[in-house]
Amino acid sequence: MSERATEPRARFARALVRDRDVWLELAEGVAHELEGPPWLTRARTGARVEGVDEEGRGLALLAPSTPSKIVCVGRNYHAHARELGNEVPKEPLLFMKAPSSLVGHGGVVELPPRRLSERVDHEAELAVVVGRRLRRASPDDARAAVFGATAACDVTARDLQKRDGQWTRAKGMDTFCPLGPVLVTELPLEDLAVRCRVDGKTTQDGRTSAMIFSIGEVLAYISETITLEPGDLVLTGTPEGVGPLAPGNLLEVEVEGVGTLAVRVDASGAG
Ligand code: ZN
Repeated sequence: MSERATEPRARFARALVRDRDVWLELAEGVAHELEGPPWLTRARTGARVEGVDEEGRGLALLAPSTPSKIVCVGRNYHAHARELGNEVPKEPLLFMKAPSSLVGHGGVVELPPRRLSERVDHEAELAVVVGRRLRRASPDDARAAVFGATAACDVTARDLQKRDGQWTRAKGMDTFCPLGPVLVTELPLEDLAVRCRVDGKTTQDGRTSAMIFSIGEVLAYISETITLEPGDLVLTGTPEGVGPLAPGNLLEVEVEGVGTLAVRVDASGAG
C-alpha cells in the first residue's frame, strides 16, 4: 500500500432541501450546503440546516452518489460463495446495476410481481465512491482514488438471476440498490463490520477483512477495461447470510463508521 496523505474524516449527505437536490457536509449538528458533489468541491454556499446528526437524520436523504455507472463484484467472500454452492472465482466476478436502481435512506425497495420473481434476497455490502478518474490503474493508485464509503444493499431476484442466465434484470431493477445514509471519507475500509438486519433480526454479520479481492484490486481490475469516473459507485461483495425479503420488512444495512441505512420493503403492486 502506497503512502496516503491522511485528511480528517468528513461526512457528507445528499438531500432534498427546499425541493432542491443538494450535497451537504455534516459537522457538529449542522449540515452545510456545498456548491457541488464533495469529490469535486468542498466550497460551501453559506446555506445551512440545523439539527442534523452524523447519519443525516433531520434531512430528507437521497442516495449519496450520482454515478454514471454502478459496478459490483460477486462472490467476494468465501463463506458467501459457499452458501450458494458456488466456486470461489479466480478473478473478480463483475456485473453492473443501473443508476435507476438507487434509492436513499428512508426509501422503499419495491419487490417485482411474483410472475417475475418469488425470491428476492438482501445482500449487505460496503460501497465505495470513486474520487478521480481511473483507467488502467494499479491497485495502490486505485485504492488511493477512493473518495469515501457508504452502505448498500445489492438486492437480488435470485430465481430470475438463475432463469435469465445473466444478471441485468435480477440485480438491476428499479429500487434494487438502496444506498446510504451518508458518505464518509478516510475510513479503514479493509477492516469494517458489515451487518444486515431484517425486522430487527441480524441476518448478516461480516467484516471487510474477509474479502477475497481487496478494494484496490477490484477497482484496478475494473479500470483495466472500464474507465471509472469521479462519482462512480462500486459495490464490493456480500458476506454470508443472504436471505429473502417480504413486503412490509424493515431492511437495515449497517457499515461500521458509516451508520445504518434503513429502507422499507413493499410489493410494487404491478401485475
Ligand atoms: Zn452482491
